[in-house]
This record gives sequence, C-alpha cells and structure tokens, in this order.
Amino acid sequence: MASIYDTIIIGAGIAGASSAYFLKQKGKKVLVLDKQGIASGGSGAAGAFVSPKIGKGGPLQSLTNEAFVFAKDFYLEHFPHCYHRSGVVRIPKDEADAKKFALYAPHNENSYSKWEVEKLRAHQIKAPFESFFFDEAGACDAPEICKELLEDIDVRIDTVEKISYRDGLWVCMAAKQSGKERSSHYQAKSIVLATGYENRLFDMRYMGVKGTWGTRGDFRSQLPMKVSMHQSMSVSANINGIIRLGATHEKGVKEPTPCEEQQALSLKYHASALVDTSEMELVKIFCGMRAGSKDYFPLVGKVIDVATMLKRYPAIVRGAKPDLKYLDNLYICNGLGGRGFVFGPLMGKMLADLVVDQKEPDLRVNSDRLFLKWCRKSPELDDMR
Ligand SMILES: Cc1cc2nc3c(=O)[nH]c(=O)nc-3n(C[C@H](O)[C@H](O)[C@H](O)COP(=O)(O)OP(=O)(O)OC[C@H]3O[C@@H](n4cnc5c(N)ncnc54)[C@H](O)[C@@H]3O)c2cc1C
Repeated sequence: MASIYDTIIIGAGIAGASSAYFLKQKGKKVLVLDKQGIASGGSGAAGAFVSPKIGKGGPLQSLTNEAFVFAKDFYLEHFPHCYHRSGVVRIPKDEADAKKFALYAPHNENSYSKWEVEKLRAHQIKAPFESFFFDEAGACDAPEICKELLEDIDVRIDTVEKISYRDGLWVCMAAKQSGKERSSHYQAKSIVLATGYENRLFDMRYMGVKGTWGTRGDFRSQLPMKVSMHQSMSVSANINGIIRLGATHEKGVKEPTPCEEQQALSLKYHASALVDTSEMELVKIFCGMRAGSKDYFPLVGKVIDVATMLKRYPAIVRGAKPDLKYLDNLYICNGLGGRGFVFGPLMGKMLADLVVDQKEPDLRVNSDRLFLKWCRKSPELDDMR
C-alpha cells in the first residue's frame, strides 16, 4: 500500500522547495515530484540575485521589498553558506534615468547609501552616474539553496501527467519511465502546483502564467569585484573566481531550447559598459523560463473550479460576482517572475499558512484576484457573452 502524504508538491524549483520547507516546519509529511529533479527549471538558470526593487513606490515595490527583507533574513539565518551578501549597486541606465533616481530615493525602504562616481571607480565600476548601494543585498547559490530547503524531504523524479480527486484524497499519476512496467501513483490530502511556466494539470488560464526565456553566463575572471551590480543586466561580485552575468529576456520562446553561447556572449558585451570584461572567459551557460503572472504579482492561493463556476453562474462572464468555488485542497505557488529567490521564501510561508492553518494569503498575491476579471474580459469566453 503506497504511503499517503499530507501534501504533494509538483515542482522542485524555488517555489516548490520553499513551500515544502515551510510545510515540513509545520510538521507535515511532504513529497516533492519534479520531472527532471531539483532546480531543473527556471530556478537552475537563475543568477539568483536578491535585491530590493527601486521606483516611485506602489504595491509591487512594497511587496517586493517586504519579500526581500524576509528572504535575506531567512537565508542568512538558516542557510548563510548559500547567500553571498555582496551588496548590490543599482546604476542608472542613462542621464534621464539618473534624474529619476532622485525621485526613487524617498521610496528606498531598505538600508542603502549613495555612491558617487569616484566610489564606483574604486570598485571597478565604470558608470558615470551616482548610484544606490544596497548593502544587505546579494546573490544565492540557486541549486544549492533549493537542495538545502528540501533536505530531509522526500523528492522523486517523475513527470506528473494527471491528478484526480477521489474519496478525500488526491492521486498523482506519473508518466511511465523506461525500464518500468507500470507508472507510479502517489496519494496525498492536498496538492500544491509549483510547476512554473507549465500549467497543464488544471484549468488555470485565469492566472495567465507565461514564461519569459532567459540566458545567464558564468565567466572566469581575475577582476577583484567585491560588490554585485545591476543596470539593465546584473553583474555579480567575483565569487571564487567566477563572475555571473545575467540575464537576457528573450521574447517569443514558447518551449525550452538548448542554451545559446551567443546570448551569453551578448551579456559580456553589455557588461563591458560597466566593468572591464577583457579577460573574462565563458565557462558555463544557463538558460530557462521565468514564470510570471498577468499582473506581475506572485500567485499563492487555492485553485478555483473554473468549469463549475462557468456552468453554475453563466452571468459571471457579464459581471456577476458569485461566491467562488474551489477545488478541494488544491493550491498554487507560482508567478514569481524574475524574482523567484526574492519572493520564494515569503510566498512559501504564506502557502504553508494557507494549507495548514487556512490563513488567507495577502490580497496582493492571492490568486483569486484575477478570476472575475478574466471571466469578464477574456476573449476565450467571448462565445458565452
Ligand atoms: C536566466 C534567468 C536568470 C534569473 N535570475 C534571477 C535572479 O537573479 N534573481 C531571482 O530572484 N530570480 C531570477 N530568475 C527567476 C527565477 O529563476 C524564477 O523566478 C524561478 O525559477 C521561479 O521558480 P519556480 O519554482 O516557480 O519555477 P521553476 O524553477 O521553473 O520550477 C518549476 C518546476 O516544475 C517542474 N514541473 C513542471 N511540470 C511538471 C510536471 N507535470 N511534473 C513534474 N514536474 C513538473 C519543472 O521540471 C520545474 O523544475 C531568473 C530566471 C532566469 C531564467
């Protein structure tokens, strides 16, 4: 008889790994399934910079900055060897952007100082504009942190093809693997979907999760760079002789493709405006998909039973607002976009609070927010209107 878990998490990226960690902290028996293993999706490609968001304020900036504080404190307390607190310099792109930095300054909620051009020069940075330096920011070792979060948690490599709910239990059917006669199935009281850009297991169109392809390159270098920096792209501090350059945003890539050296070399070209890249030698290329939601906020919540809602309340497509019906014990943690290592820990905690204590997630990330608007506006439902 197969064992029954409290929760099965599908996806072992930073969203799934953080969710698993906080569920385990609450004493739950957790299984994590991933088709290719830990941090094999977008999370494995990430340069994993962890820094605040700058701008003129607003809900996304304050949420990001709350998540930043939570994440760096969490990494420093529990996994200090995976978090390199190099500090991150935020550099204006051009003269016009430099003027905007004056407007951004009052909204810098995290500890920072202003760096004049001479100070930038002293740190090997060529940029000609006053910049912000966030001393608590840094970068994670992305696969390492996912592995550490999942220590002592059951993780299996299996592709989940189908999930179904029967007699109060979810059953995950995994694909048949070569050499195995039968496909595996796993049972749990609840399921968390943390599948990144792929959302084929349920009708989650209302969340509008889409992938943006990106490439990062690791370069061997002697440059004595002590701080990381971000302008239109990020350049890490020199960590054990390696500088990470990331990342490209490649539009129109729908499915993963092999990583392209050309993309990594284009990063080196762009980095040359910031630092001396002449002796940098490409040693490894990473690429992957960032999964973002329609409104760029993360998605944490229960999954709405879309089919039942549309059947029971057809007027919903014309603006009716009935109570929402959810699929029993099915949850999501996704939409971390280009900041998975900033949002991951706080979203994983909110997810665990929801699953175990039925504590509703913060309204800014609650995935319900997108449903009624999708019903009213989505062209996919035009024929019902
Ligand atoms: C080039 C690049 C650079 C980046 N740099 C940064 C950065 O500096 N800082 C930062 O914070 N973030 C960065 N990101 C973003 C970060 O990587 C993402 O936010 C993060 O990957 C989101 O994690 P996730 O767990 O939601 O998705 P993923 O990491 O994509 O994980 C989803 C997992 O689900 C698995 N899966 C999907 N379907 C199934 C199924 N049916 N059965 C079993 N398993 C399944 C996949 O195999 C995958 O491992 C970067 C991303 C890229 C691509």
